[in-house]
Amino acid sequence: MQTSLPSSSNVKSEMKEHCDHRTDCLKMIQLIVDGEATEQQLDKLRANLESCKPCIEMYHLEKEVKELLAKRIEKRCCPEQLVATIKSKILTFS
Ligand SMILES: [Zn+2]
Repeated sequence: MQTSLPSSSNVKSEMKEHCDHRTDCLKMIQLIVDGEATEQQLDKLRANLESCKPCIEMYHLEKEVKELLAKRIEKRCCPEQLVATIKSKILTFS
């Protein structure tokens, strides 16, 4: 059953369901997520993402994973620092 709005189905018809340059896209997505992409690479990927559905999804996934990892590292760091601080305090007492 077709439930999508006319505007989104219009976009869908222009979108590619399969990426024929996935390796290149993935490489660039990773560069962008890492913040290492050049302006040229950003422009190229932006142009690709407008018509490339799997790459948009890949981009959002990579970004989410990156953010999740960053959060996990933060969470891990804090208790360790706390433990180190507590240990050093215990050592000065004993
Ligand atoms: Zn692509």
